[in-house]
Amino acid sequence: MLIDHLNQQLLERAAKGLQRQRRTVATVCAPHQQVGGSTDAVPRAPLGFCSNDYLGLASHPALMDALAEGARYWGAGSGASHLVSGHSQAHAALEALLAQWMAPAIPEARVLSFSTGYMANLALLTALGDAGATLFCDKRNHASLIDGARLAKAEVQRYPHGDLTALERQLQACATPLRLIVTDTVFSMDGDQADLPALLALAERHDAWLILDDAHGFGVLGPQGQGSLAQAGLRSERFILMGTLGKAAGVSGAFVAAHRVIIDWLLQTARTYVFTTAAPPALAHAVCASLRLIAGEEGARRRARLRQHIARLRGDLQDLIDTHPACGWTLGASDTAIQPLIVGDNARALALSAALEAKGLWIPAIRPPTVPPGTARLRISLSAAHTDDDVQCLLAALQSLAKEST
Ligand SMILES: *Cc1c(COP(=O)(O)O)cnc(C)c1O
Repeated sequence: MLIDHLNQQLLERAAKGLQRQRRTVATVCAPHQQVGGSTDAVPRAPLGFCSNDYLGLASHPALMDALAEGARYWGAGSGASHLVSGHSQAHAALEALLAQWMAPAIPEARVLSFSTGYMANLALLTALGDAGATLFCDKRNHASLIDGARLAKAEVQRYPHGDLTALERQLQACATPLRLIVTDTVFSMDGDQADLPALLALAERHDAWLILDDAHGFGVLGPQGQGSLAQAGLRSERFILMGTLGKAAGVSGAFVAAHRVIIDWLLQTARTYVFTTAAPPALAHAVCASLRLIAGEEGARRRARLRQHIARLRGDLQDLIDTHPACGWTLGASDTAIQPLIVGDNARALALSAALEAKGLWIPAIRPPTVPPGTARLRISLSAAHTDDDVQCLLAALQSLAKEST
């Protein structure tokens, strides 16, 4: 009986410390976010280090206004898919603006907007990874790239995380005419970055293309927030870049930037583009406002503050770990806003997260299958919306827990 069967499986997951839970927030996305629906007499507003709102734009008044203005002009919904009647001037303006952003990195760049990054990745891998192609995928790629590879008719080879020697061996041994290397630029649970110059060199040597998922680089990296390719200062028509608009950009949606012929092909054939309702135009309108903020002075200030937080947290947390080696924590090697504090065991990661919660901090424990078994962790994500005091508060809490554990 289905219900009994699922119940049994749910109990087994819970016994392994794998049960997941939602929290219902009652206020805008911000470091101090009220968590509703709890039985506490006084509503709690824990200090969170869990959102991907790296620049603190999700609740920026200018973007809230732009969204409202967009809704007043365009209404609530798009009414149809892009290829029927759902493609608005707001979507077109967003695509044109993003194409300008990507022009320095991708010759003849054009852009196609998607409702979510998940859908954009499925589109890319299924539309390009046809039979006769081979996809070479980093083993720590995001779930949406993994699912895209599963759906693709192409052959799929996976290489150990960041191991470009292994990747080159696979490329050398590959006889299929179309080779696509698929990787996150900033890995979502580790915060480390793919070696883009080396990957491009490999792609050129072996006539391969690069599908890059810049979900955690777009808006944050590069001189004006244009993302990982701008940071690396690279340019090639081999780049096919997916960026998301619900993380640093603070709104929702995603895009693919690539040579115009690749974009034409996606528009004709990508099923997660063709067979879905276009996102509300108001969202595209708000994203345009977000891009202007990101590229301007305000974006530069916010990126500078984020970099300060990253340097401070890393320095102080590493000192803390060195002083209390018995706590058994390790800090992953990451220069980005994603800072993994690796604990190892599922139960210990949950306990640490609960202990922080008792101190008014909100940092979820990330467990398998999101991360490899034995590497359960707290995924600390920093934002320009955090203050120096917020970062200090996190460090102080971790310090007292490290002392208790020894
Ligand atoms: C969040 C994320 C996605 C999915 O983007 P959504 O717009 O949230 O669907 C894809 N890739 C990576 C690496 C991500 O972190």
